[in-house]
Amino acid sequence: MQSNPIQRHSRFLALVAAASFGLSACTTIGTPGATHTTNDADRRYLAEIALKRWSDEAARLFLVSARVFDTAARTGQCEPSRSTTGFLLDSDQNLPSNLREEARLLGLQSGAPRIIAVAPGAPAAEAGLMPGDRVLATTAGQPEHSGQLTIRRDDTEFKVTLTGRLTCDYTVQLEPETEIGAYGYFNGIHVTYGQARAFPDDAMLAFVVGHELGHFVSGHPFIRLGILSGTAAVDVAVTKGLLTAASQLALRPTWRREELEADRIGLLLARQAGYDADRILEAWPTYAAAAPERVKRGWFADHPDMAERYAALSAILGAQAGKSQQAK
Ligand SMILES: [Zn+2]
Repeated sequence: MQSNPIQRHSRFLALVAAASFGLSACTTIGTPGATHTTNDADRRYLAEIALKRWSDEAARLFLVSARVFDTAARTGQCEPSRSTTGFLLDSDQNLPSNLREEARLLGLQSGAPRIIAVAPGAPAAEAGLMPGDRVLATTAGQPEHSGQLTIRRDDTEFKVTLTGRLTCDYTVQLEPETEIGAYGYFNGIHVTYGQARAFPDDAMLAFVVGHELGHFVSGHPFIRLGILSGTAAVDVAVTKGLLTAASQLALRPTWRREELEADRIGLLLARQAGYDADRILEAWPTYAAAAPERVKRGWFADHPDMAERYAALSAILGAQAGKSQQAK
């Protein structure tokens, strides 16, 4: 019997909800959707949705970060010392472990690694690589390093030689947590899946990446040591584990000042990279509402409260607008 469109639609929504539940609960529950479905077709369908959602966000984070990093490198705001050829492989995604296992069991990522993102203007783009291309072989140790790649596109195979270009020496990774947050840790910028999903506008993502980059390039000591702290709960837990309560309290005014500095860099970098800075302020109420504990913690907070950060960002944009008015 054919189901009517409404039945099909509600079944689809239920599956999507189950898929997102499976992914969002990935750290505590086993297989995505396993408790919600009864047959392999549904299971496969759910895993495909979860995998696509994850890959879409990983690709978006990769592309936005590439643009922010290139801007920072071009304008002397970071030391360009890491080679990149500008593409992301599906095999290089930091998949949540249950999703990785499910994808493996269902053969969803079988075959040669597939390119899921190519940064515009990067060596990979100039060589004509495109999302969907499979990398059959490489002479480079890492995909981001220079070397010759053997590519399969549909039924054809060809070779390209890529020469890496230098950019900021930081890695960027999408993390499985569903809390809204991002943090800098050693030389890595980590953005949660929850953060990416909550803010589909690239401007906010650029700001978040720029904020963490701001901590690094400003030499904020705790970030450098990998102790502090971004905006994620996970990060606060790391901080708490490594510092005594007393030293945390003593350091808070410094942390708050550093946060405002990182905000400033993030905002200006996002704008220099071509994103609409007003969108960041427009998204701010959602950001604040999604993190009520950050608003409430007052002077115990290791971040300034969200209203203070908003006021500081508005003042920066206002001052810049004033300057450009005078210039006219
Ligand atoms: Zn921060």
